[in-house]
Amino acid sequence: MKSHYRVVVIGGGVVGASVLYHLAKLGWTDVCLLERSVLTAGSSWHAAGGIHALNADPNMAALQAYTIDLLAEIEKESGQSIGLHMTGGLTMAGTPDRWEWLQSAYRVFQSIGIEDCRLVSVEEACALNPIMSPDGLLGGMWADREGYVDTTGTVHAYAIAAKKRGATYFEHTKVEALEQTAEGWKVVTDKGVIHCEHVVNAAGLWAKQVGRMAGIELPLSPLKHHYLISDTIPALEEMPGEVPMTVDLEGFTYLRQDQKGVLLGIYEIEHEHWAMDGAPWSYGMELFQEQTDRIEKELICGFERYPVLQEVGVKTWVNGAFTFSPDGNPLVGPVPGKRGYWSACAVMAGFLQGGGVGKTLAEWMIHGEPEADAWCMDVARYGAFAQNRRYIRETTGQFYSRRFVMTYPNEQLPAGRPLKTAPAHDAMTAAGCRWGVSWDLEVPLYFAPSPDFVETPTLKRSNAFDIVGEECRAVRGGVGLLDISGFSRYEVTGPNAEAWLDRIMASKLPGPGRARLAPMLGRDGRLKGDLTVFNWGDGTWWIMGSYYLRAWHMRWFRDHLDDGVQIRDLGEEVCGFSLSGPRSRAVIERVAEGPAGDLPFMGCGRFDIGMIRARVARMSVTGEAGYEINCRMGDHVVLRRMLLEAGADEGIREVGFNALLSLRLEKSFGIWSREFTQAYTPGMTGMDRWIAWDKGAFTGRDAALAERDGNGPAQKLVTLEVDAADADASGYEPVWKDGRRVGFVTSGGYGHTLGKSFALALVDTAEAVEGNDLSVHVVGVERAASVIAPSPYDPEGKAMRG
Ligand SMILES: Cc1cc2nc3c(=O)[nH]c(=O)nc-3n(C[C@H](O)[C@H](O)[C@H](O)COP(=O)(O)OP(=O)(O)OC[C@H]3O[C@@H](n4cnc5c(N)ncnc54)[C@H](O)[C@@H]3O)c2cc1C
Repeated sequence: MKSHYRVVVIGGGVVGASVLYHLAKLGWTDVCLLERSVLTAGSSWHAAGGIHALNADPNMAALQAYTIDLLAEIEKESGQSIGLHMTGGLTMAGTPDRWEWLQSAYRVFQSIGIEDCRLVSVEEACALNPIMSPDGLLGGMWADREGYVDTTGTVHAYAIAAKKRGATYFEHTKVEALEQTAEGWKVVTDKGVIHCEHVVNAAGLWAKQVGRMAGIELPLSPLKHHYLISDTIPALEEMPGEVPMTVDLEGFTYLRQDQKGVLLGIYEIEHEHWAMDGAPWSYGMELFQEQTDRIEKELICGFERYPVLQEVGVKTWVNGAFTFSPDGNPLVGPVPGKRGYWSACAVMAGFLQGGGVGKTLAEWMIHGEPEADAWCMDVARYGAFAQNRRYIRETTGQFYSRRFVMTYPNEQLPAGRPLKTAPAHDAMTAAGCRWGVSWDLEVPLYFAPSPDFVETPTLKRSNAFDIVGEECRAVRGGVGLLDISGFSRYEVTGPNAEAWLDRIMASKLPGPGRARLAPMLGRDGRLKGDLTVFNWGDGTWWIMGSYYLRAWHMRWFRDHLDDGVQIRDLGEEVCGFSLSGPRSRAVIERVAEGPAGDLPFMGCGRFDIGMIRARVARMSVTGEAGYEINCRMGDHVVLRRMLLEAGADEGIREVGFNALLSLRLEKSFGIWSREFTQAYTPGMTGMDRWIAWDKGAFTGRDAALAERDGNGPAQKLVTLEVDAADADASGYEPVWKDGRRVGFVTSGGYGHTLGKSFALALVDTAEAVEGNDLSVHVVGVERAASVIAPSPYDPEGKAMRG
C-alpha cells in the first residue's frame, strides 16, 4: 500500500468495485480501493443478482441499460465468470388499473428507448413461465434483457478488470478515520495512513459511519429483505431452458430460477429497518433469522402464484440488509461543502445499477460533470432536512413497502410530512387547501370546496378536475392568490456580484429595478437552470428558481463562486404570495403604500404592502398580469389576510399549483425537470431566446455558440394540441408520425380556460412544424395531436404585459 493515491475508494462491494473500474477505464489509475473484510462482504455477497431493464425514470433506465451491456464486457475483460443468465423477464399486472398502467408504461419505455419489451397476454406469459398460475392476472410485459448474475463473480470481475487497467485494491484494510487536508484527505486505516485528493464513500451498509467520519449525514438506512430458494422443482428439471425472471406486482414478489429450483424474493409490506446508524463494525458475512410471520401475506401470494412451491421445501432462506435513500435512488456525486468527498451510496440494486453509478461518478470526478443527466441520483437532491432520523425512517420505509404498490400521479404519499409549512399553512388548510410536497415544504395544490371532498387516485382526470378549472378561470377572469413560498430565492451581494452573475448566467443582466429570465449553462452548454435574476437597485441581487433544487443549485453556485461575492439561500427566511389576473393591479393598489401597481412588466422594487416591508416584482407564470410579493416568514399570515380582504370586491380566489400548471401550459411556459433538464440545450428548448450572444464570455458560451452556428439541435420543443377525452399526457409518452417515433412528451395537461388538452414535447426538428399532424399515447391509447403555435392563450402576451 502506498502512502499517496489520487483516489481512495472505501468499500469493496459491487458499487466500489465498479467505481474503481470506471476510474481506471477513464484514465485515473493512481486509485485504490480499501475493503475492511473481503470483496463482497456487505450486501453484495447475498444479493439475488437480478437484473432488469425497466425503470420509469429514463435516466435510471439508461443507467440500468448501460450496466446490463457492461456485464458481458467486464466478464470478458477480467476473465472472471459472472454467471450471466439472460432469461428475459415478465412483469405481471393483477388489477385493471395496474394493467392500464402497464400498457401506459410500455409506451413510456418505448419513448425512452427500451425497445426490447412488449405487452403479453396472460396465456402467453404463462407459456413463457409455465409454473405461474394465471389466477387474477390481466396481462403482462415481456422484456428481453432481464435475468440474473452470480454476485460474487460480478464483484470480482469489476475488481480484476480494474486491476488489469492499473488500479489496485486491498482487502482486510479498514478505514477508521478521515481528515480533510489542504490537498484532499488523510485516510487513517488499520494498516497505516494514506493521503489522497479524493475519497469515495462506497461503504454500502456502513455508508452512514463513513459519512460521519467526515461530518456528513447521508439520508439513507438499511432495511431487511427476504428471499427463499426452493428445493428442486420436478417441472423445472424437465424444462429445457429456464423460467424468466418474473415480477408479480400485486403479489409483492419476484422470482427467478436457481439451479432446478427457484428464488422467490419479497418486497415486504411490514418493512423492518436495521442499523439505522450503519451496520456494526463487527457485522460479518451474516444473515438474519427469517421472519416468516412478518412476510406471511406476501408468501401466501407467492405460493399461490407459483403453486409448485407448495409441493417442495425451502432449501435456503436469505434475510439480509441493503441500503435505501428516501426515494430509492442512489446518492451519487460530490457532497456539497466537502471538497473531494464523493458519495456512491444507497445503491438499492447494485448489480443492476452499479455499472451506471460507477461510470457516472468516474466521469464526474475526472471531467467535472457526468455525461448524462444525473439529477435522479444526485446526492444534492436532498437538503439538510433529510438528515433527520424519523424522516429517513418514514421515507425509506414507505419506498420499500410501496416498491410494488401502484402510485397514481395525483396521489400524495404521507411519509416525512408535514415537515416544513409556510406560516399561513393552517389558515389555508382551514380555507380548504389540499397539499402536495416540494422537497421539505408543503405546497398548495388546490382548494377543495368542502372538507368532505376526497380526491380519487387515478391515471386519468381526477374528480378535482372541475375545482382546478374554476381556479384557472378565476385567474383569467379576475384575480388569483397563490402561496409562492415554494420558489427558491438566493441573495447575491458583494463588490463582484454583478460580474459573477454576468459570468454564470447566459442572459443579459437586468438593470436596476428590473428582473430578467436567465438561463444558466454548464460548461458543455447544457442547461443548469431556468432562473430569474432580480436587480433590486441597492447592490442586492436575487436569483429565483425551483424550490426543490436548493441544495443542487447552491452546490453549483458555491463551486463556481468568485472572490468578492457572497451568496445566501433565503429559503428559510423569505416566502410570499403572488397575485395574478386582470384584477391583480386593483388589489395591490389598495394595499401598497407606493406605486407598486405601476411597476412595468418585469419591474421590481421594495414597497410597503400594508405594514409589511416587501419586495415586489411585476411578473407571473400564469400569462396574466401579476405581482409576486416576497415577505419575511413572519409576515406571511398577515400578507395573505390583507390580500384576501383587499381582493374581496374583486372576487379574489385562492389557487394552487395545479391551476398554475394548467395555466402555464396554455402559455407554453416550460418548467424544470420537464421541459428543462441538464440533458437539454438552449437550442432544443427555446431557452436560446434569452441568451445574450453579444455580451462576451459566460459559462457554456462556446458550446451554445457551436449549437447555434452548427447544424442546430436534433430535437425541438413544440406545443401540441391533443385530441384527448378523459385523460391527458403527463410526460415521456411517445410522439408518433405515421407509425414512426419522432419524439416524446415533456409535460401535458388540460388547458382549463381554453378547454383543450395540451402537451409540450421534444420532437425531431424536421417534425417541429406548425400544423404537423402527429399522435401521442395517452394512458396507453393513441390520440391524434397536432403541432400548434406556442402560447395558445394570448400569443402576443398582451394580458401579461398589460
Ligand atoms: C436479500 C437481498 C437481495 C438482493 N437482490 C438484489 C438483486 O436481485 N439485484 C440487485 O441489483 N441488487 C440486489 N440487492 C441489493 C444489492 O445487494 C446492493 O444493492 C449492493 O450489494 C450494494 O452494493 P454496495 O457496494 O453499495 O454495498 P455493500 O455490498 O454493502 O459493500 C460495501 C463494502 O464496504 C466495505 N466497507 C464498509 N466500511 C468500510 C470501511 N470503513 N473500510 C473499508 N471497507 C469498508 C464493506 O465491508 C462492504 O464490503 C439485494 C440485497 C439483498 C439484501
